[in-house]
Amino acid sequence: MTQYVYFFGDGKADGNKDMKELLGGKGSGLAEMTNAGLPVPPGFTISTRACNIYYERGGSLPPEVDEQTDGALARLEALMGKRLGDPADPLLVSVRSGAKFSMPGMMDTILNLGLNDRSVEGLKAKTGNGRFAKDSYRRFIQMYGNVVLGIEKDRFEHGLSAVKKKYKAAADLDLGEKALDEVIARYKEVVEEETHRPFPQDAREQLRGARDAVFKSWMNPRAITYRRLNDIPHDLGTAVNVQTMVFGNMGDTSATGVGFTRNPSTGAKEFYGEFLQNAQGEDVVAGIRTPHPIADLKKVMPAAYEQLREITTRLERHYKDVQDFEFTIQENKLYMLQTRNGKRTGLAAIHIAVDLVEEGVLTPREALMKVEPQALDQLLHPVFDPKERAKAKPAAKGLPASPGAATGAVVFTADDAVAWAQKGKRVLLVRMETVPDDIHGMSVAQGILTATGGMTSHAAVVGRQMGKPSIVGCGALEIDAKKKKLKVGKTVLEEGDPVSIDGSTGDVILKEMPTSPSEVLRVVAGRLKPSQSVLYQKFEKLLSWADEVRRLGIRANADIPRDAKVAFAFGARGIGLCRTEHMFFADGRLPHVVKMILSAARGQRGLDLTKRLKDRLAEARGSQAAEIRKELAKVRKEYGKHVADYTGALKKLLPMQRADFAGLFREMHGNPVTIRTLDPPLHEFLPKREELMVQVAVLRAKGEARNRRSIAEKEKLLRAVEELHEFNPMLGHRGCRLGITYPEITRMQARAIFEAALQVAKRGIPVKPEVMIPLVAHVEELKRQKQIVIEEAQAVLGKDGGGVEYLVGTMIEVPRGAVTADEVAREAEFFSFGTNDLTQMGFGLSRDDAAKFLLYYQEHGILEKDPFVSLDAAGVGQLVEIGVRKGRGVKPDLKIGVCGEHGGDPSSIHFFHKVGLNYVSCSPYRVPIARLAAAQAQLEKPVGD
Ligand code: ADP
Ligand code: MG
Ligand code: MG
Repeated sequence: MTQYVYFFGDGKADGNKDMKELLGGKGSGLAEMTNAGLPVPPGFTISTRACNIYYERGGSLPPEVDEQTDGALARLEALMGKRLGDPADPLLVSVRSGAKFSMPGMMDTILNLGLNDRSVEGLKAKTGNGRFAKDSYRRFIQMYGNVVLGIEKDRFEHGLSAVKKKYKAAADLDLGEKALDEVIARYKEVVEEETHRPFPQDAREQLRGARDAVFKSWMNPRAITYRRLNDIPHDLGTAVNVQTMVFGNMGDTSATGVGFTRNPSTGAKEFYGEFLQNAQGEDVVAGIRTPHPIADLKKVMPAAYEQLREITTRLERHYKDVQDFEFTIQENKLYMLQTRNGKRTGLAAIHIAVDLVEEGVLTPREALMKVEPQALDQLLHPVFDPKERAKAKPAAKGLPASPGAATGAVVFTADDAVAWAQKGKRVLLVRMETVPDDIHGMSVAQGILTATGGMTSHAAVVGRQMGKPSIVGCGALEIDAKKKKLKVGKTVLEEGDPVSIDGSTGDVILKEMPTSPSEVLRVVAGRLKPSQSVLYQKFEKLLSWADEVRRLGIRANADIPRDAKVAFAFGARGIGLCRTEHMFFADGRLPHVVKMILSAARGQRGLDLTKRLKDRLAEARGSQAAEIRKELAKVRKEYGKHVADYTGALKKLLPMQRADFAGLFREMHGNPVTIRTLDPPLHEFLPKREELMVQVAVLRAKGEARNRRSIAEKEKLLRAVEELHEFNPMLGHRGCRLGITYPEITRMQARAIFEAALQVAKRGIPVKPEVMIPLVAHVEELKRQKQIVIEEAQAVLGKDGGGVEYLVGTMIEVPRGAVTADEVAREAEFFSFGTNDLTQMGFGLSRDDAAKFLLYYQEHGILEKDPFVSLDAAGVGQLVEIGVRKGRGVKPDLKIGVCGEHGGDPSSIHFFHKVGLNYVSCSPYRVPIARLAAAQAQLEKPVGD
């Protein structure tokens, strides 16, 4: 029989830490802590398997689940010596959700289940604490009413406020038993009004209701959004934990709290957290009362504090990772309610991973697995310009929940954040407190600022996870979300006004602030010495461990020397893609490029005709020769100007390209530099047709006669633009098709490459140019382009090669190129997968138009991820595999890399590692991510050795 229910208690548990999939993170943590002999209130976990069956059956469960639940409950009752629903001495439980991956705040917990009108009196009698009993009951009705019965929280809040007002109570805590009785009565009325039924009094009905609500919450929209944002599959399901209640709300010797074994924001080795006395459950994170720093617990409950430190230190060593824990103290006795590996900022992740190695807890290899490659990105986020920062006077201070500098226009709702962001504005989301429903707004905001809540509030947790600068609990903010106004001291801000936050200090500054690169970036750029940055040292240490492990080489996509320099400093050892056309847009070049384009067709034809005639002339005699000369003169007359324009423009471009390439070679210090010949459709360099038409019309209106020359020029351009117009430019005259029809362009570029190489080599710097022909579908294309490249190489480098070794290879980015890779490999000296185009053509998805429906595809589960971000391993990946297999079938040592955007995407990197590529190439800022991801790929699936 399938086991659906797993017991934990009395020092033993059915589960353990390796059963997250089945028991959820919370359930497996409770089991592991129980097995370790820690004080955990006993209970049982209903597995994720039951949740999945619940959905398969459309909302019901097989009888075995109920039977096993009853069995576990009976066992729990026996252990505790109390019965659920017993009016005299009731067993109370919490019902808690918990999936494999923690989803903070996504699903609600129900506490004090088992209370009803009679058992609340039993609880009072048993504890002699009427206030406590009533407080527990009113909380239960509120949570159950909201989570299970679907009644809005506000309905209850109103009831509570009314009673508070009546009794002139400032806080919930000031309500006595009598007042709480009134709250309970009001709450029960709310339930009757909303559900037309009295509040359920039967404890087993309560339990079933709560369990089903947890299962249902798995598919609520916020949970679905959260999973989508975090790449968590929807079919994992959640477990349900039913656990004996312990009470932090029994008076001042009781408390509840949360904490981390290290600072999750900075990574510093310090005990970190918050607690509240005489409180229960979510009070600490809900932001209703401001919690105390955990250090203060030492003063009020020293014994419990010492025990907590001892237990959590043990947990950290046991799990070999920072622990994020939850605890409750009931009348000075400590209970552990949860432990899990703590979420942390990228900054903290680096510090912690390296520190744990230095403390001997982790090996370097283990440490590598503790840092999300993506998280490294956060270290490269901007900080405020230090000078400006020193001058700026903060208007308010909150808790520094997630580091980094953010500047943006204030918005007050998540929807507004999205709306503004879509218009291209940078926004800062300001809220009283955030709730899971705000996630879409948080994800587009530059930063998050809340008025209430502590370091473990929703905004803080989610902000850290997203790597968003966040400040929480900034009490000085007076927010009027309805009127879209924010008051800080005497200043009133409206929607759209600029605000800056410093997530590292908690400072709120009421103006726009210039930002500057991160500390790591400053070191990389040579503006800060490595010895002055502890962060940089740890960053480099971790990545140096990664370099020792990884098998994939890491190169960068860089077009200009400045980017190449950054890439090299980040650890790129080679350039995998230099897009030569990007340089065409640089200052002072575009006119030559335009001239080249406008004259290319006729100019090339003139050159071709001339050459043919000259060849014939060489062999011709007498009258024949005279005839050919006449023809030559005709050609010269007809095409002379075009040829002059064409070759003239190329001549101008040559030294510019040469200088760019020389810069790249120098910055790469002898590592290979792959330069791609011209790739994009030519119209990309010309103005838009509509713009030109408008310009002509405007000139005409201003005076035909006066503007004759400009009008003629524009019209000429317009004609060229119209001639070059293509219906499907991405499948049109581009890539090697350009170089084949206009070989002079390839020739010029090849010449520039080899002249640059020779120049640099002569200075004693080794160079390794790799000339890459794009968009090859047929081996013949490569063969012809390669011929031109080799001719130029020989012409420039001379017989002895001038000490320059070069390769000529191709991009594999057209499906036909991939499936005929064996033929292509006979000509190619290397392959580089252009996975952007390969995805575009493999899927038949236009990169420029797909955004419109790709999101729909993802939201509706047709595609899990954007295939332009993460390589579609199942489909496009096969083209890559075929290309590798066929290519290496012909040339076993063929060097193969990838230069599409996917080269910097961790999951794609795992794929490239697996299929045996030699290197990935990505944008300079993703190089650190790629280094780490490549190491993780090797640790997960070793190849080589
Ligand atoms: P979340 O996943 O949102 O953290 P939890 O299930 O961990 O939700 O519950 C939130 C809080 O409820 C806990 O931190 C704890 O304070 C309280 N809680 C849950 N179960 C119990 C229990 N059995 N006894 C006392 N408090 C509990
Ligand atoms: Mg929790
Ligand atoms: Mg391409």
